[in-house]
Amino acid sequence: MIYLDNAATTKPNSVACERAKEWLDEKFYNPSALYREGLAMQSGLKQARSALLSKIADESWFELVFTSCGTESDNQAIFSFAKRGNAVTTAGEHSAVSEPFSELKRRGVAEPRFAPLQKDGRVDVEKLLELIDEKTSFVSVMHVNNEIGAINDVNAIAKAVKRKNPRVIFHSDGVQAYGKIPFKLCKEIDLYSVSAHKIGGLKGVGGLIKRKSLALPAYLIGGGQESGKRSGTENTFGIKQFEYAAEEKFRTLKEDLIRLTEYRETLFSLLDKDVYVRLSSKDASPYILSVSAVGLRGEVLLHMANDLGLIVGTGSACSSNAKLRYSKVLLACGYDEKTADGALRLSFSPMTTKEEVEEAAAILNRIGKELTARMK
Ligand code: PLP
Repeated sequence: MIYLDNAATTKPNSVACERAKEWLDEKFYNPSALYREGLAMQSGLKQARSALLSKIADESWFELVFTSCGTESDNQAIFSFAKRGNAVTTAGEHSAVSEPFSELKRRGVAEPRFAPLQKDGRVDVEKLLELIDEKTSFVSVMHVNNEIGAINDVNAIAKAVKRKNPRVIFHSDGVQAYGKIPFKLCKEIDLYSVSAHKIGGLKGVGGLIKRKSLALPAYLIGGGQESGKRSGTENTFGIKQFEYAAEEKFRTLKEDLIRLTEYRETLFSLLDKDVYVRLSSKDASPYILSVSAVGLRGEVLLHMANDLGLIVGTGSACSSNAKLRYSKVLLACGYDEKTADGALRLSFSPMTTKEEVEEAAAILNRIGKELTARMK
């Protein structure tokens, strides 16, 4: 089976699983326990927190709160700080951000505002800034788009947002960026969400990076874990495995980037241009290539590919639950419904090989031809 749906989730890094195994077998104690074994768990968590944070942030300015996933991190950021007036985000956000924004309106908390996208999937920064006024309490702009791979320059955007309104709390969803795109958080970003399972970690482990001086209200209230910011006994095995997976991912980040850029271009160059058009731009994340078989249904192609041993996505795995026929992100980029309907998302990991990419192109060409012939 060729797996090209790594933006949905990645295979857990087996070396990291093996290294973390002692946190299952021997070090299973509750990190909040007062005896020596519990305290040793705390120091294991501290080590993981520091290792994961220091990869992208200055530890004297930022801290990391462990959560259960990227969705929880996004929700905690939004519901903690979008408290009044209006809250601004982009039309390209994952449902983990766009749905809480819509919920702000349903709850009568704040008016959600959505900034339009450019054709390549990046937010139109000028229009985003126009939406920000003195009543804006919160702004969220995703770092890497999960459907089309567009990279927003969130450091520059955060700086521009703070120039317009210094009281705004700025959040970025970094779930598709962390460990994949070279990046250091600037001080104007207050909150940044990450998730383990996109880089060889396990599902059910995430983090919310926050400015230390920002008072983050607890979202889950109980035993006061994570310095009172997120109650619930920490998933120590998952967190240690995330630490080790990230260690490896960051070590090879630059070479992965170069290799996957080459594979992405190889894959697109091998695709039949009578069937497929490219949606992702060349300067998007090399981990994601979005194409469209305009006039065909991406979902049908997905099943045909599956039967031939190739796993691809059509868009966000989470939005497939919502039974949306067309990707709202692609429509927001200005693509028509026919193009959005034919979209396929091919997403890579460092484990993807050149042979797999070549074989995937052959399968996609075969099914594209077959479905085109069936439609005649
Ligand atoms: N944000 C983005 C951009 C994502 O791609 C995803 C997952 O697909 C999430 C948030 C949600 O992360 P998690 O699956 O850890 O809840």
